[in-house]
This record gives sequence, C-alpha cells and structure tokens, in this order.
Amino acid sequence: MRQRVVIAGGAGFIGYHLSTRLSHEGWSVVIVDNFATGTHRNAAELEQPDTCRVVTHDVCDPLTVEGPVDYVVNLACPASPVDFSRVPVEIMRVCSEGTLNLLELALHKGATFLQASTSEVYGDPEVHPQEESYTGNVNINGPRSVYDEGKRYAEALCTAYARKYRLPVRIARIFNTYGPRMRADDGRVVSNFIVRALQGQPLELYGGGQQTRSFCYVSDLVDGLFRLLQSDADSPVNLGNPAEYTIAELADAVLKLTGSDAGTEDKPLLHRDDPKRRCPNIERAKTLLGWEPRVVLEDGLEQCVPWFREFV
Ligand code: NAD
Ligand code: UDP
Repeated sequence: MRQRVVIAGGAGFIGYHLSTRLSHEGWSVVIVDNFATGTHRNAAELEQPDTCRVVTHDVCDPLTVEGPVDYVVNLACPASPVDFSRVPVEIMRVCSEGTLNLLELALHKGATFLQASTSEVYGDPEVHPQEESYTGNVNINGPRSVYDEGKRYAEALCTAYARKYRLPVRIARIFNTYGPRMRADDGRVVSNFIVRALQGQPLELYGGGQQTRSFCYVSDLVDGLFRLLQSDADSPVNLGNPAEYTIAELADAVLKLTGSDAGTEDKPLLHRDDPKRRCPNIERAKTLLGWEPRVVLEDGLEQCVPWFREFV
C-alpha cells in the first residue's frame, strides 16, 4: 500500500532531499513549512499534483491533515549557528510547541514519528567519538543553548509520548550534513567556504580552525533517515560520517577543489561554546539499519560546487 508521510520543514535543505527520495520511492508526501529558513524555490520544485503537496503553516500552531498518515517527520527548526542569536525564541518554540503539535498529529493518525535531533545534544563533548549513551556537556545558558536544549527537550518529549502512549518514535541524531540546496548565505561552514573560494575571498577559520567536524553528504543522510523510518529502533541513532577533519583541513580541501588561491584567515569564534571535537560513533546505525555513509568528502564537495556557483 502507498505510504503517506507528513514532513514538517520539508522545504528546507534536508527536507528537499528527503521529500525527493520519498516521492521517488512512490510515497505520498505532504510538506508543512512556514519558510522561516526553507525556500519557495524548493517548494515549487517539489510540488507535484499526485505525489507532493505543500502546506504553508507554522507548526507552533496546532495542525490537522486530512486523510490517513503513516509517518510524521519533524525537520522543522532553523539549524545554522547564525540563527541561534537571530531567532532564539523561534527555535525554542518550534522545538517545544512545534514538536508537541506534530506528536499529537502522529498520535491522532496512528503514525510513526521521526524526530530530527542533532549531534548538538552532546554539546562540547568530553567523550570522543560520541556514542548514543553519552549524555552530553551542554552549557544551559550559553549562546548555543536555545538549539541544544531545545533539541534535548524535543527528544525528551518524544520519549514521553513513546512511553505514555506507546507512540512509535524514531530519533535521528544528525551530525553535520552538507550538499546542494544548502542556502548559500546560511552561515554554515561548507556553504561559507565554497562561496568564498568561488568569490576569491579568504576562507575564515573561526578560532584558528583546529576544531573538528565530520561531514555527511546529504544523500547518505537521507538513506539513513529512510531506513530509520522503517526500522523498529526505539532509542536514538547517530547518523553521520565518521571521517573526522579539522576545519583547516576542510578549508584546504575546498581551496584545492575550486583551484582557488584565496587562502585562509583567522577570525574569532562565533560562540565560545563552539564544540572542539565532533565525530559520531555509528555502530548502532550499522547494526540496526545496515547503514553507513558512502560518499567521501572530496566527492561530496565536488557535487556542491555547481549549486553554489549559481549564487556567486
Ligand atoms: P533548514 O533550515 O534548511 O530546514 C529547516 C526547515 O524547517 C525550513 O524549511 C524552515 O522553513 C522550517 N521551519 C522552521 N521553523 C518552522 C516552523 N515553526 N513551522 C514550520 N516550518 C518551520 O535546515 P536543515 O539543515 O534542512 O535541517 C533540518 C533539520 O535537521 C533541523 O531540525 C535540524 O535541526 C536538523 N539537523 C540538521 C543538521 C545539518 O547539518 N543540516 C545537523 C543536525 C540536525
Ligand atoms: N566555521 C568556520 N568558518 C566559517 C563557518 C564556520 O571556521 O565560515 C567553523 C565553526 O566555528 C565551527 C565549524 O566551522 O567550528 C562548523 O560550523 P557550522 O556553522 O557549519 O556548524 P556547527 O557544527 O558549529 O553547528
């Protein structure tokens, strides 16, 4: 039988790719988005009379969807660190009120719920690499806390619905993901670096660039989400690429790929709580989902260049 999925935040970066994949799998997709950080271009390119419908709605307001729903996916939340100071209250509201409304929708429809959580729940981690049992090191009042604590609250709320109402809940702890359809000006490192390299401007290394991240190409992430949705994993699962790079190494890779001689320059950190090391342990995803990333950084970055060239 044809599956029907509601994707909150489906007009954003990951939402675009997940909606595309699920439409291709023959699923019927209903996107709910208020375009806080999503784009009308994504929505227009996704919308198809028989497979994908777009509804403009803020999920902080209760919502109803006509007809059966098999899955509810909650991607709705501004996700760039630049947004943490730009729209802090909106982030906390969408993580709390928005998640609550979407859980109620799933409960009402008898649907499985998937929450897009984040590696940020681990804060500035003292355990490395991060496995799901690690409870994190988050500064409650720091500049990143609106997102970190919002996402931690959302996980707790999802777990409460699973325990109290036996709602099937899947929680993806997503690590840094990149690819085409990222907004060129959203402030995240991959978009910033490629755009600046193409403009011939030095790539800015916040705090000197010795902090690490691991970068997952979006098609790999979407494949992990697709498997998780259909799994019976009833506790959080890390989804990310375990290849760890310093930000300075990422800058070198981008400069090499684009043939740019713009170089790098050191800049102050945006947030003092900027995590120093981040890398997922993905053993649980391997075991439960048979999933691991396939796209290496150089290949993924190459796929992004034509997309960002449009904005330069
Ligand atoms: P994005 O900003 O491109 O997408 C978020 C989408 O949610 C946008 O379309 C936005 O308009 C929508 N949205 C925000 N507030 C809303 C509201 N109140 N009502 C309805 N829609 C709303 O970001 P993304 O990178 O695609 O991230 C998607 C999800 O994945 C987010 O929840 C994010 O926290 C999570 N995540 C992303 C990454 C990453 O590296 N991209 C890493 C970890 C977690
Ligand atoms: N960063 C950087 N230059 C930039 C943008 C980001 O050095 O132009 C650093 C940032 O300080 C962080 C890392 O790159 O340590 C990843 O930043 P991003 O905003 O992509 O996501 P985060 O992992 O911090 O949520």
